[in-house]
Amino acid sequence: MSEHQATIFDKILSGEIPSYKVYEDDHVFAFLDIGPLSEGHTLVIPKERKAHLHQLSDDAAAAVGRALPRICRAVLRSTGATAYNVLQNNGSDAHQVVMHVHFHVIPKFGAQGLGIGWNATKLSEASGRDLAERIKQALAAEPA
Ligand code: AMP
Repeated sequence: MSEHQATIFDKILSGEIPSYKVYEDDHVFAFLDIGPLSEGHTLVIPKERKAHLHQLSDDAAAAVGRALPRICRAVLRSTGATAYNVLQNNGSDAHQVVMHVHFHVIPKFGAQGLGIGWNATKLSEASGRDLAERIKQALAAEPA
């Protein structure tokens, strides 16, 4: 995938454009989504400028992984929600609009929140075995 292009989230990180910040540490920034699907819809982003999740360094990924559950707890506590979705889109075919890694934390209140189309198919034994093997081999090629 291509080099990282500047996005509006760079300007949010630099303070050039305002945001409703809810959290910041050395590696992570979180702020309210300007087009919320429900009350409390929050975006959690690494400060590392990468478009897609698979491009993140281990350090940035670990920092986001640490912050996410904390932010989820705070969103639940402050909105009273008891259910929520965490959504992370990669690539415009997968509905990504802003090409800087971000996790949506979206409280669910009845019909309000993330709507999901889940067109499940059936995994056959043959393709299950084949796919699992291919993914395991690809993982084995990852650096330690
Ligand atoms: P995605 O489709 O996953 O790329 O989502 C991008 C999200 O960024 C959308 O939900 C937008 O509402 C949100 N967004 C875009 N610009 C801003 C902004 N300036 N402040 C807060 N959220 C924004």
